[in-house]
Amino acid sequence: MKPRGSKKVALFTESVIREMTRLAQQHGGVNLSQGFPDFPAPAAIKQAACEAIEADINQYAVTWGARPLREAVAREFTRRYGVRVQADAQVTVCCGSTEAMMSAMLAAVDPGDEVIVFEPFYENYGPDAILSGAVPRYVTLHEPDWTFDPDELVRAFNTRTRAIIINTPNNPTGKVFTREELVAISRLCQKWDVLAITDEIYEHIIYDGHAHVPIATIDGMADRTITINSLSKTFSVTGWRVGWAIAPPELTASIRKVHDFLTVGAAAPLQEAGAVALALPDHYYDELAREYCRRRDLLLDILERHHFTCYKPYGAYYIMTDIGAFGFPDDVAFARYLVTDVGVAAVPGSSFYHDPGLGRTKLRFCFCKRDETMMEADRRLAKLTVAAGR
Ligand code: GLN
Repeated sequence: MKPRGSKKVALFTESVIREMTRLAQQHGGVNLSQGFPDFPAPAAIKQAACEAIEADINQYAVTWGARPLREAVAREFTRRYGVRVQADAQVTVCCGSTEAMMSAMLAAVDPGDEVIVFEPFYENYGPDAILSGAVPRYVTLHEPDWTFDPDELVRAFNTRTRAIIINTPNNPTGKVFTREELVAISRLCQKWDVLAITDEIYEHIIYDGHAHVPIATIDGMADRTITINSLSKTFSVTGWRVGWAIAPPELTASIRKVHDFLTVGAAAPLQEAGAVALALPDHYYDELAREYCRRRDLLLDILERHHFTCYKPYGAYYIMTDIGAFGFPDDVAFARYLVTDVGVAAVPGSSFYHDPGLGRTKLRFCFCKRDETMMEADRRLAKLTVAAGR
């Protein structure tokens, strides 16, 4: 008998985002698929990591995270948003926000519980739900501005609902949830005794005067919210794998148990560097947002000139596009053609929907790239314009 994987693993596929990066490498494609920067991280964070290794911070940190990082996470959340966070009882450092989300789900959700997910969604939430035994319930974010229908949201809640996953600023749409939307969500969470699990990894990457509102700051939500974030996007260190979850003390105890047995802990010297990074002045964050806004406008211009219909993002570093104009049967075929024949990698829209049919005319590009990288994509996409005339 051939060995086979578990039944639950058969229920989801390999990450399409990560597969696109491999295809880009294989075909020498310009990689505008997986969201990671191709420019250096800030000197201060790199130097702090080197110093931590030199200082022999090379053994396990305490499983729930080195104290300086937990204190920095708590201090910054309180300073920015006025919500008290206890570093000792409410912060768990994980191996990236990916593990923080998985640990949060495993810690908070029982098999059969329903979890509400806004769709399109970051692809990890699907496998996260399956691995934790949750039954996902999708609520549509309607293009072009990715708003949800309040009645549809009301209908998604019931006595089996355990949690709702929010991701703001949003990947892949660039939507920034408004305070009014979050208040509507929070009323339902309180009515139905539901947890909010919120992925706020793009907190500082936000444009055009939009403001990030953590749902933990809405009345009545601090004690029913798990807020997830990471160093990855804010400090351009996606490969460091240092993220965290802020949660009420009882939930934190559960998250820490799961986290400890999953990974023991995140890289100790990089946690020390994270504490240094979180102490950077506000000017750092202003500059980060300003630079990404410039990159967004550059990629919007490129994609629009090459006949993609773009949904302008107000946060995060992705542009969702519609590819209807190119006459391809589906997004996966188009993405493959784009990477193999044109030399540009992007993510097929179907990987952000539970029913692939819903994403068939969509493609996601990222702009966390150097100008030269995006300009090379521009040159290559010229070929596509010709192909579009077929
Ligand atoms: N968040 C990034 C994206 O959506 C990268 C995800 C990952 O591969 N961990 O592309």
